[in-house]
Amino acid sequence: SGVIIAMDGPSGTGKSTVSRRLAAALDASYLDTGAMYRAATVWVLDNGIDPDDVDAVGGSVRGLELRVGTDPSQETVSVAGADVTGPIRGAAVTAAVSAVSAVPAVREKLVAMQREIARSADRIVVEGRDIGTVVLTDADVKIYLTATAETRAARRNEQNITEGRGDDFAAVLADVERRDRADSTRALSPLRPADDSVPVDTSELSMDEVIDTLLTLVHE
Ligand code: C5P
Repeated sequence: SGVIIAMDGPSGTGKSTVSRRLAAALDASYLDTGAMYRAATVWVLDNGIDPDDVDAVGGSVRGLELRVGTDPSQETVSVAGADVTGPIRGAAVTAAVSAVSAVPAVREKLVAMQREIARSADRIVVEGRDIGTVVLTDADVKIYLTATAETRAARRNEQNITEGRGDDFAAVLADVERRDRADSTRALSPLRPADDSVPVDTSELSMDEVIDTLLTLVHE
């Protein structure tokens, strides 16, 4: 079968940009599993379901008709035939996606899809939180991208300033630390590095340096 590269780690490490660029450099496919959880969240919200109602969310996901593209240069995600590439990045979805992705039936369905997509690819970079630990434990290369909480908070704060959402480093740092705790202590698929993953700390590296590091690891 093909070559599978698992990319895990918390948000704010540059994981999505890095994963896309790595896939493009390797002429590989790219799967954004976060986009899939976001698309499931669009489905839940559009159906008027409370994202915290585990039974209702679990029931609704049976009818979820999700399609996700694997081209690293162009994201395509649709739900019930409608393009949701824009809506999955909206504030309402971002606020509800943790609850939706904590529902077992949601993870079962999306993990099955992720395995099928990865196994039918020639070469693929799969990005998420639990790829190396749960979804594709036999991946050929497992990368765990990290950065200090301060670095991740500073990057997010810069983004907030650029996008007109204000400047409050202390609040952003507190939020980053709170989510790290929640993600690493949740019962289902907690965020942690796989035992056989290679940690790459991006705090002191430029984007080009990160890509060079990863290309070296992949070619070893
Ligand atoms: O990567 P992104 O921030 O788009 O992911 C959105 C959310 O989806 C994460 O905060 C997490 O709750 C969930 N997720 C997950 N497992 C994955 C990928 C994402 O639970 N493999």
